[in-house]
Amino acid sequence: MKAAVLYEAGKPLVVEEVELDEPQANEILIRIEAVGVCHSDLSYMNGSLPCPVPVVVGHEGCGIVEKVGPGVTSVQPSDKVVTMVSFSCGKCHFCAMGRPTRCVESLNVMLMAELPFFAGKRIHKGDQYMSQLFGLGSFAEYCVVHERSAIRVRPDAPSEVVCLMGCGITTGLGVAINTTNVRPGDSVVVYGVGGVGLAALMGAKLAGAGNLIAVDTANIKLEMATELGADQVINVNDVDDPVARVKELTGGLGTDVAIESAGVAAVMQQAFGSIHNGGVCVIAGMAPMIDTLTFMPFEFLLGKTIKGAIQGDIVASVDIPKFVDMYMAGKLPVDKLITKTFSLDQVNEAFEAMKNGQVLRGVIKI
Ligand SMILES: [Zn+2]
Ligand SMILES: [Zn+2]
Repeated sequence: MKAAVLYEAGKPLVVEEVELDEPQANEILIRIEAVGVCHSDLSYMNGSLPCPVPVVVGHEGCGIVEKVGPGVTSVQPSDKVVTMVSFSCGKCHFCAMGRPTRCVESLNVMLMAELPFFAGKRIHKGDQYMSQLFGLGSFAEYCVVHERSAIRVRPDAPSEVVCLMGCGITTGLGVAINTTNVRPGDSVVVYGVGGVGLAALMGAKLAGAGNLIAVDTANIKLEMATELGADQVINVNDVDDPVARVKELTGGLGTDVAIESAGVAAVMQQAFGSIHNGGVCVIAGMAPMIDTLTFMPFEFLLGKTIKGAIQGDIVASVDIPKFVDMYMAGKLPVDKLITKTFSLDQVNEAFEAMKNGQVLRGVIKI
């Protein structure tokens, strides 16, 4: 089968023939139909985040289960599934308390880039085994993943749209709906309106946000933000200080909520600066691991909160099918975010288009 392999950070992906082992206990083989092109892949590809190489990247996959290993109970062959970026074991303290995105196994899967519970890798070229980013590696014709890394979705949902539910879109929706708990009338500013930010905007809108402000550097993204319900947009290139502009647009106060989804430390600082006393700032973006933030502790005496979230605190098995239903019912137009589709051979082109801000969200169709 063909897969997109990263041999060295900073180098292009190599699309080549590799071999795939059979699914073992609690694992499934998926024939991938579509994969979202997400900025998180890029963070590993450019070395901002560490990952053992060679590695098959890609994580927002959607496809059909072709084979299941011994002991698999949650899906069966011919089911349509979405591959889930954050693994959850279902048994640890955090899983038991209904917070599966904080699962203790998740970080191991992320750092080791292999199947959960240190179960190794299933992709190889001769005797060289390849890591699977997030225990997935879905920029490939097929992938073998743990059954808990896949969420069954309704068969009539288009794979090239609902693949986005595996990471970016659910992160954005979840950040607005679960992590921030936006209430009707709340003023909300979203810094960085790529896939995650636009989804956060949709989530805030669904939750009944009042004044909804989008901040970015790309007009194509800000235009979509307006289409999806932003009341005001700020192009950072057109203003001296985006924080001052947010305050101007909120009667001098600042917003109830700020969501950062650009993954840039300096922007996180701006997002925190944009909330009023008692406001909440949520960091959803993935910044380079060596970056740091600086705050005046006094600001916390003003009742300000800053909080983090991974994948919008969703409960994937509940939230993903629900979001898919909302999309199918026309209530969550996530397809508007997909500006271009690519073939697997064009995967490097797809990342270039993302880096250049030419696409809101690219999708690889396989
Ligand atoms: Zn767990
Ligand atoms: Zn992602």
